[in-house]
Amino acid sequence: MSVLEEQYESESALVLFSCTECDHVSLSLGSLHAHAESHRGIHGLQFPWRYGDFDRLMEFTEIVRLQEVEEIPLEEVDGL
Ligand SMILES: [Zn+2]
Repeated sequence: MSVLEEQYESESALVLFSCTECDHVSLSLGSLHAHAESHRGIHGLQFPWRYGDFDRLMEFTEIVRLQEVEEIPLEEVDGL
């Protein structure tokens, strides 16, 4: 696990992870990266997600602070 991911995990109640390629939103960095793999043309199970192209996957990841997400309907949030 990277230092970056540990940092976000400790703040998991405060942030959401939004895909920069579409409107997909996740509460989990791991599941957002799993989603982002589809934009890279990778389908199917590719465990573990975080290994290999973490930096590239972060290019698909927008960190959304909780105070900024009031306009996102909850039904669009994966993981609830
Ligand atoms: Zn997406």
